[in-house]
Amino acid sequence: MSSDSTPISSNFLRSIIEDDLSNGKHGTIVTRFPPEPNGYLHIGHAKSICLNFGLAQQFGGRCHLRFDDTNPVKEELEFIESIKESVRWLGFEWGEHLYYASDNFEQLYQWAEYLIQQGKAYVEELSADDIRIYRGTLVEAGKESPFRDRPVDESLQLFRRMRAGEFPDGAKVLRARIDMSSPNMNLRDPVLYRIIHAPHPHVGDSWRIYPMYDFAHGQSDAIEGITHSICTLEFEDHKPLYDWFLENLPVPSHPRQYEFARLNLTYAVMSKRKLHELVTQGTVSGWDDPRMPTLMGLRRRGYTPAAVRTFCERIGVGRSDSWIDMSVLEECVREDLNESAPRVLAVLRPLKVVIDNYPVDQVEEFEAANHPQRPEMGSRVVSFSRELFIEQDDFSEAPPKGFFRMSPGNEVRLRYAYIVRCTGVIKDESGSIIEVRCQYDPASRGGSAADGRKIKGTIHWVSARHALEAEVRLFDRLFTDPNPDRGGVDYKQFLNSDSVEVLPAAKLEAGLSSTDCETRFQFERQGYFRLDPQDSSPGRLVFNRIVTLKDAWSKK
Ligand code: ATP
Ligand code: MG
Repeated sequence: MSSDSTPISSNFLRSIIEDDLSNGKHGTIVTRFPPEPNGYLHIGHAKSICLNFGLAQQFGGRCHLRFDDTNPVKEELEFIESIKESVRWLGFEWGEHLYYASDNFEQLYQWAEYLIQQGKAYVEELSADDIRIYRGTLVEAGKESPFRDRPVDESLQLFRRMRAGEFPDGAKVLRARIDMSSPNMNLRDPVLYRIIHAPHPHVGDSWRIYPMYDFAHGQSDAIEGITHSICTLEFEDHKPLYDWFLENLPVPSHPRQYEFARLNLTYAVMSKRKLHELVTQGTVSGWDDPRMPTLMGLRRRGYTPAAVRTFCERIGVGRSDSWIDMSVLEECVREDLNESAPRVLAVLRPLKVVIDNYPVDQVEEFEAANHPQRPEMGSRVVSFSRELFIEQDDFSEAPPKGFFRMSPGNEVRLRYAYIVRCTGVIKDESGSIIEVRCQYDPASRGGSAADGRKIKGTIHWVSARHALEAEVRLFDRLFTDPNPDRGGVDYKQFLNSDSVEVLPAAKLEAGLSSTDCETRFQFERQGYFRLDPQDSSPGRLVFNRIVTLKDAWSKK
């Protein structure tokens, strides 16, 4: 990860691990990234991935990828494959350490029987509604279930019959017998197992009962020998339960749970349900729509894994909830691409320019540096001819004060080529300019005047007869409000109706004909772009703008 520009700074988790290693508590650290395979990963998950895999890398330990797959109804193989691909895309590798909580189902079942035998779990027959009522509230103790003190043997027999599939969904549950008056609701006899007659994407149809997340998570950590079980702050209230299981079961190790603040990003929604809604309602083209905060979306847009890693490092890891502005992510992408992206000339909204005094059949080639600060990136030739395209907004018939680009009577430099002076325009019947006429200064080859006169403006151009045509897609934020998901309002009212602009006939310099999706370019003065991997094909170039050259939002 040496290419990442942000140096590794300290955070409270690094300090804890340094202490644990230096005082000999652990010889090696083991972390894990534990997604539930019920959706696609988003930029928030990237924070957790970079943190867990990053700590393991930094301290010479290892990080496991574990699917916390305890709910067969919402989980799918497709999500498992996509999650693996996204973690790899980010640049991390779990090697042989791929685990599934469901691979521990037999062991978890045995431990559930063990708790029953110890008098620490019982089969509950109250309805789900009654269980909720009996549980009490934050200010009121819970009430003990009439089934709480049933004989151990009775619970054991019923639990075995639950496993055998003798009861319908919801008829019974297994509960831990902890403390119905605990101030921590998680300790009021939490449910450990429920009956679900549904096959499981990883272990097939061998089970009729499934463990709850809380009963599977910590024990899976213990089985894998996780040393530091790092999760987001909402699990802080679950920690006493996490520890209770580990203390009351014959587990092979006792991991420690640490919580950190989740990533909240402005101008985005990150809840799986809302992202799902955007997809199913057709607001976006899919999970990999380039405007989505999913890793698939960022990837398709053209964000680099290095930029996402830099972002995760830069935002830091703390214990208080905070909001990160979208511009921080965009700036990380910009910095990375500024270093690495070759520069090219591309005209997004073309306006035709004819140089009247340039020979009709003449073509000249100019050398253009691929990167202004990095000569090792080499150069290429760009072809110049009598008819060119420039950007529509680089021409003004009645220029405002301070406009140094092309306007009647004014001189402007065509990047790498010549100085030209605009002599007039041609309009259609409706009065729109369809062509601009110019004269070039043959003594200004390369772009500087022989007599040393100063030319203030430089614009980019593409030779009409050499140009490639492409569709270019410009993206903006999906929401107009920094906090669309603030609650109490419908986030959809903040959808940005201009979040994508399609330019159907952009003109690109000819060298781009042989590009691939891996190469990101700077289109000079327009931003960073790359081919869309889905919609481009041999006869059709479709470019996505990854990010603008400057933060356009700070001016809005
Ligand atoms: P849900 O709980 O709604 O299914 P989730 O986004 O928490 O969604 P998980 O699969 O449980 O999905 O997440 C996997 C890991 O990623 C967890 O350790 C979780 O804490 C972490 N994670 C999820 N969202 C964020 C976020 N916004 N910032 C940091 N870490 C996150
Ligand atoms: Mg979760």
